[in-house]
Amino acid sequence: AKSTGKNNYKIYSTTMNRKFLKQYNLEKDLRKAFHKNELVMYYQPKFNTQSKKIVGLEALVRWNHYQHGLILPGEFIPVAEESNLIFKLTEWTFRAVCNQIKQWEKNNVLLVPISINISPKFFLKNHWDDTLHQIMNEIKVNPNLLELEITESSLIQNEEHFISGILRLKKEGIKVSLDDFGTGYSSLLYLQKFQIDTVKIDQRFTKKLLENHGSIARYIINLAHELNVDVIAEGVESEEQLTFLSLYGCNQVQGFLLSKPAPEKVMEKLLVLYN
Ligand code: C2E
Ligand code: CA
Ligand code: CA
Ligand code: CA
Repeated sequence: AKSTGKNNYKIYSTTMNRKFLKQYNLEKDLRKAFHKNELVMYYQPKFNTQSKKIVGLEALVRWNHYQHGLILPGEFIPVAEESNLIFKLTEWTFRAVCNQIKQWEKNNVLLVPISINISPKFFLKNHWDDTLHQIMNEIKVNPNLLELEITESSLIQNEEHFISGILRLKKEGIKVSLDDFGTGYSSLLYLQKFQIDTVKIDQRFTKKLLENHGSIARYIINLAHELNVDVIAEGVESEEQLTFLSLYGCNQVQGFLLSKPAPEKVMEKLLVLYN
């Protein structure tokens, strides 16, 4: 806009460009958010469908922006993915979870595995598995307490590069779950090839449980169980949904009905209460 004169300013006032500017500012602020300690980890419990005990937690990042307040990942993860910030963010989340486990271990809080969402783009990084391995080693956390939540596009893109890393971390004890199951093209072959431990039924199918006698959910549960893969349903908001999932043999449930994502102090109390 510097040398092209007055007319071009018009372009900068269009909605498109305001959007771009907003995105640009978010990216700029996210870059600084790390050392300003604006990122916070929330946790949402996963319950055993039968015993109703907490059997795991999912780590869900939040951004406490100095000006805009709490920003949800749906808004800033795409920004991170479009820049290279997703690498730094993934390392930050992995480290935060490892530190949390260590701290709870020290304070005698009941330990359950914690899952971390990993964007497909992270797996494009060379030696991505070394990065995770190093953090885990440095903090000395038991790999059995860690789980990676990946999506179908991670399995499909860049297969060889991804598979060697995932199988190595699995050997060390890390678990792998397939998020948003049923929304893509995953086949039975994928579940076996990548040694998936758990599939997560997407919230869309949990919402549809009461239609068609939950045919999709039942199909996923039976298919996974045939292959010795556990099933968790996300987005459980009603008692009816819980009843159906329990009836169909879904192993674990997660959702607002049981608990919303919450900060570590709230989680500590829940871990005591439910066990
Ligand atoms: P996701 O992994 O599918 O996570 C589930 C989302 O559903 C979470 O939103 C959670 O708060 C929300 N949720 C849980 N129970 C219920 C329920 O009963 N009803 C409804 N309506 N929603 C429920 P959140 O925390 O805003 O995260 C959105 C997405 O952002 C996640 O989807 C995940 O893809 C991504 N994300 C979150 N944290 C991270 C992270 O640390 N790293 C990466 N790469 N992505 C993350
Ligand atoms: Ca997830
Ligand atoms: Ca999901
Ligand atoms: Ca999702």
